[in-house]
Amino acid sequence: MECSSHQFDVIVVGAGIMGSSTAYQLAKRGQKTLLLEQFDFLHHRGSSHGESRTLRAAYTEDYYCDMVKESSQIWEQAQSEIGYKVYFKAQQFDMSPSDNKSLLSIISSCEKKSIPYRVLDRQQVSDRFSGLINLPEDWFGVLTDVGGVIKPTKAVSMFQALAFQRGAVLRDNMEVKNVVKDEVKGGVNVETADGEKFWGKKCVITAGAWVRKLVKTVGGLELPIQALETTVCYWRIKEGHEAKFAIGSDFPTFVSYGEPYVFGTPSLEFPGLIKISVNGGYPCDPDKRPWDPAGISLDSLKEWIKGRFSGLVDYGGPVATQSCMYSMTPDEDFVLDFLGGEFGKDVVIGGGFSGHGFKMAPVVGRVLADLLLSGEAKGVEMKYFRAQRFQDNPKGNVKGL
Ligand SMILES: Cc1cc2nc3c(=O)[nH]c(=O)nc-3n(C[C@H](O)[C@H](O)[C@H](O)COP(=O)(O)OP(=O)(O)OC[C@H]3O[C@@H](n4cnc5c(N)ncnc54)[C@H](O)[C@@H]3O)c2cc1C
Repeated sequence: MECSSHQFDVIVVGAGIMGSSTAYQLAKRGQKTLLLEQFDFLHHRGSSHGESRTLRAAYTEDYYCDMVKESSQIWEQAQSEIGYKVYFKAQQFDMSPSDNKSLLSIISSCEKKSIPYRVLDRQQVSDRFSGLINLPEDWFGVLTDVGGVIKPTKAVSMFQALAFQRGAVLRDNMEVKNVVKDEVKGGVNVETADGEKFWGKKCVITAGAWVRKLVKTVGGLELPIQALETTVCYWRIKEGHEAKFAIGSDFPTFVSYGEPYVFGTPSLEFPGLIKISVNGGYPCDPDKRPWDPAGISLDSLKEWIKGRFSGLVDYGGPVATQSCMYSMTPDEDFVLDFLGGEFGKDVVIGGGFSGHGFKMAPVVGRVLADLLLSGEAKGVEMKYFRAQRFQDNPKGNVKGL
């Protein structure tokens, strides 16, 4: 235990995208960093695996817009450090019925945060996308430039490699059972399932869908973070039309607000297939997953695809699916905060990313590192991410929508 190989400035628990990005930020600042993961690195049992995540600056809540802008800069910086691409740019297209308030909120966010945007009516959408995207009579859309696709497993691997290059120690198959205050010399002792102990001046818990369990064990704090199992669906593009939907063509990343709430990316990871999925899922215990793609009803999604994509995408059924977990907070805002209590400012939590955190992992890593090293984080409206908000109001942040 006194051995220096078990002593660190910061111990990061959980090596999904958030823990890996945080380890990168810490190692870059010269911190002796340990990254611990309960399963194999780059496993498929959490939230950060797979082939694509959308990046978009168009948010209904304006406090996320600057976080996306900062993140896109760090994505570009990190990929230039590693020498390969994880972020592929595209435009972002949001659409909805005209009585849905989400697009009005997005327009208001774009105005407030100086994000250039274009509002398009049904005819303009058809013209802009050469007839590929069709909107019903009473729908409209908003087009913005800051969008694109991130390759998730590759991005996690990138941050781990960059952290390792800067001296971080990476250990997988190390389940953390508890984090306890070191009453003698300060800091924390991190205890693993196989009996190893590590000492750290500070600790970050980025445990994804397991964050509720671990934070309860460590600090007795009950965070209302619910794991949801969800299914990503890939659909076949009709033969001869594949290039029109491919990344690098004019085809955008997109969100369709209303019922069903749909999101998707241009074809990138599997040639000839396009990702189109419904936002949401069903509650699960991350240690007892149902792994059940039938848990999601696809009827309304099939109708949506039939109506939107000019019959050029086969809407009979997905040809590939992938299971994944969201970690939902009641207000769908993240938790980026100190654990507090006896740990004071020595333990920080990053969790509750509510199905929209991936794009912001670079800024989350920066913020968590700032909280640990200087006790505060600038450039982000931290009031939205406090752990305490659920004690003040069980529903969390009150939204304007
Ligand atoms: C289908 C799907 C689509 C999504 N689409 C988008 C999108 O388009 N855009 C976007 O921005 N976001 C998207 N997201 C959300 C995004 O992927 C997540 O917000 C993000 O991956 C969360 O990362 P994480 O590091 O918090 O969690 P995870 O990736 O789950 O990482 C947590 C890690 O902690 C480990 N761990 C847990 N407990 C312990 C322990 N006790 N000891 C050691 N290790 C432990 C876990 O094994 C895991 O590896 C999507 C999510 C899903 C599921």
